[in-house]
Amino acid sequence: MSKHQQFKSKYDLNFINNNDYTLDDLKYNINHIYKNAYTYDFSNYTNINSEITINCPIHGNFKMIALNHINGEECDICVISAINDFIEEIDINNIDKEIIYNL
Ligand SMILES: [Zn+2]
Repeated sequence: MSKHQQFKSKYDLNFINNNDYTLDDLKYNINHIYKNAYTYDFSNYTNINSEITINCPIHGNFKMIALNHINGEECDICVISAINDFIEEIDINNIDKEIIYNL
């Protein structure tokens, strides 16, 4: 068992109000969730509701509340790009067939 506090849920009030969620805890969970996708400036970190600076290797720096980041929010431009890639991969003809089969 890790000594670090595991992230549970945005709606876990005990967790949200926990100012004892240390920088080590944050780093542990970020590494678990994002591997090494981003680099960070944690100099403003005091608790889980602190704003940290995140560096996307493609799109540069952006700021985000630490809690939001470990809840899955990440680089907006990366997310939009991923959605656009997904839309481009959709084959309109196959969608039409699926809709007909399901009628
Ligand atoms: Zn990005």
